[in-house]
Amino acid sequence: MKKEKIIIANWKMNLSYKESLRYIKDIKSFLVGLKNIKIILCPAFVSLADIQKEIKLKKIELGAQDVFWMEEGAYTGEVSVQSLKELGCKYVIVGHSERRGFLNETDAMINKKIQIVLSHNIIPILCIGENLEQRNDNLTAKILRDQLLEDLKIIDFKNNQQIIIAYEPIWAIGTGHEATTDQVNEAVIIIKSQLAKLYPNKDIEKSFKILYGGSVDENNVESFLDLDVIDGFLVGGASANKVHFIKLLNKIKN
Ligand code: PEP
Repeated sequence: MKKEKIIIANWKMNLSYKESLRYIKDIKSFLVGLKNIKIILCPAFVSLADIQKEIKLKKIELGAQDVFWMEEGAYTGEVSVQSLKELGCKYVIVGHSERRGFLNETDAMINKKIQIVLSHNIIPILCIGENLEQRNDNLTAKILRDQLLEDLKIIDFKNNQQIIIAYEPIWAIGTGHEATTDQVNEAVIIIKSQLAKLYPNKDIEKSFKILYGGSVDENNVESFLDLDVIDGFLVGGASANKVHFIKLLNKIKN
């Protein structure tokens, strides 16, 4: 039997609250009918509660796009992991390059977010990846190793817990220029060998799932399907449009 693919739909800030609800009402029966594909929807915070009502018991999982690193307190505008848990989130995206870039999120902040997420038994989806300048300077391997080292510093987790790592080269995100399968393959080998060094006592294949993200759409997704080193995709832009998302998922399922 083919390995289950994980597809994370990161809607970013592309859909309003009403648009998000319309979207899920329109396609939930299609999503539920998919075999061998685990769908994790990551809407904006404000839509989480009502999206959860729509997908409850329907085999579609819910994730948040971010979280704060403290349990509670005077942190205006931030959202706690407890709230996310109460809303039914099983996953949280951490360290997305848009947050690293636009909001100056550091590896130290990302590290604290991963710690709190794991402590609540939620699965972090850690995004890592190099920018174009770093790739051109042959720094990709160093950047990936350093980000893993910093983001996962002193992070331990139980054998029944998991971390998802999304390899997301910044130059491929939202640009329409996806990485080649060779580039993804090379990056994943680097990621897995660094994880093996950081977690010598863990079964890396079981404890970590590795995804690729960066301009994946219905036109290019098939080229990645035979790439056994990845467990699925983190899809941004193409997941925010239901017509494109359905086409993309149809290519995966066939
Ligand atoms: C993302 O949001 O992480 C992403 C990969 O976006 P896009 O698919 O639009 O490149």
